[in-house]
Amino acid sequence: MIEYNVKQGDTLRKIAVRFQVTTVQLCYRNNMSPEACLEPGTTLFVPDAVPTDQPRGETHSGCLHEYGWRELEEDRQSLPSSIFSEQIGISVLGKPIWLFRAGNGPKKIFFSGAWHGNEWLNTWLLMSFLHVFISKEESKERWYGVDPGAILQEVTLYAVPLVNPDGVELVQEGAHVLGKEKKNDVMQINGGMHDFRHWSANARGVDLNHQWPAGWKEEAAGSPDRPFPRHYGGEAPLTEPEAKAVYQLSMQEEFSHILALHSQGEEVYWGYSGLEPPESAELGNRLAAAGSFRPVADAGSSAGYKDWFIKTFRRPGFTIETGMGVNPLPPEASARIWITGVPLLLESLTFPDFTKKSRDITSAE
Ligand SMILES: [Zn+2]
Repeated sequence: MIEYNVKQGDTLRKIAVRFQVTTVQLCYRNNMSPEACLEPGTTLFVPDAVPTDQPRGETHSGCLHEYGWRELEEDRQSLPSSIFSEQIGISVLGKPIWLFRAGNGPKKIFFSGAWHGNEWLNTWLLMSFLHVFISKEESKERWYGVDPGAILQEVTLYAVPLVNPDGVELVQEGAHVLGKEKKNDVMQINGGMHDFRHWSANARGVDLNHQWPAGWKEEAAGSPDRPFPRHYGGEAPLTEPEAKAVYQLSMQEEFSHILALHSQGEEVYWGYSGLEPPESAELGNRLAAAGSFRPVADAGSSAGYKDWFIKTFRRPGFTIETGMGVNPLPPEASARIWITGVPLLLESLTFPDFTKKSRDITSAE
């Protein structure tokens, strides 16, 4: 048995994976609950490892422990040279918001994930997807029948896999990461609870997918009217730095279509108030068929990023709800998210170019 000093960024699962023990063994040996917050500086007793054939760390077909901004940074530094990264903004608590880009084609496609704190499995999905996609391109292999090399002649793929790094950190590590004053603020927003596993918002209690100028007022009228763990749209549209960063990127690049990843329900939402182009229904059905998801025309809500994109550009925008199970989804859900998510993401890369088409429609109005 060894004694381990808990560091910033540690979670029970991360420590368990590192020492090849189970979280149950860790909790039992330290007489603690699996939901307990790990304060940095605490000493944990780590039992001797039991022999296991489980692989260590993340693999591309499974996520063994929480994936947040630290893991993203590690992945960012080991990217192949054909994936470019660029900081497009900074979160409320000062974390970088990273954009990744691959390919040189004229058709610009945008993936985004972890808009909500408890949806970090989509960050892992998008980063793993990028890694494998590029490695298949380099080895000239097909992936589910798709030729990554041919796609990247046609497409430039943009991805912001972690829109809400502060929210994800809160969910994974609890409020002690914030320092005393800010900790009290978010604890108050969280109803005094230490448990942040259901937290969706950013560090100011604003829901980054309720922040968009597309029916914002109507949506705000039926939502919390002050900072809250979810669904509070802010004092006005686009007040939060994380949403602003995606807004500026979207205005600059004028994507042909976008996929905004959320969890959960295994659904594809393809419409917004009838403002989407007529092709959106068929394309939504294609995405749904690829992932074995359910296609849905309209969520009946407003002020989301996908809603704003459709309204502004009149091009296809999709909200993808990955995963199925208890909320929030645990790392064990990653295998299913991968198996269903990869064919869906690949399918979206084969869509026609809407850039010119919808410009024509807009100018005719
Ligand atoms: Zn979400």
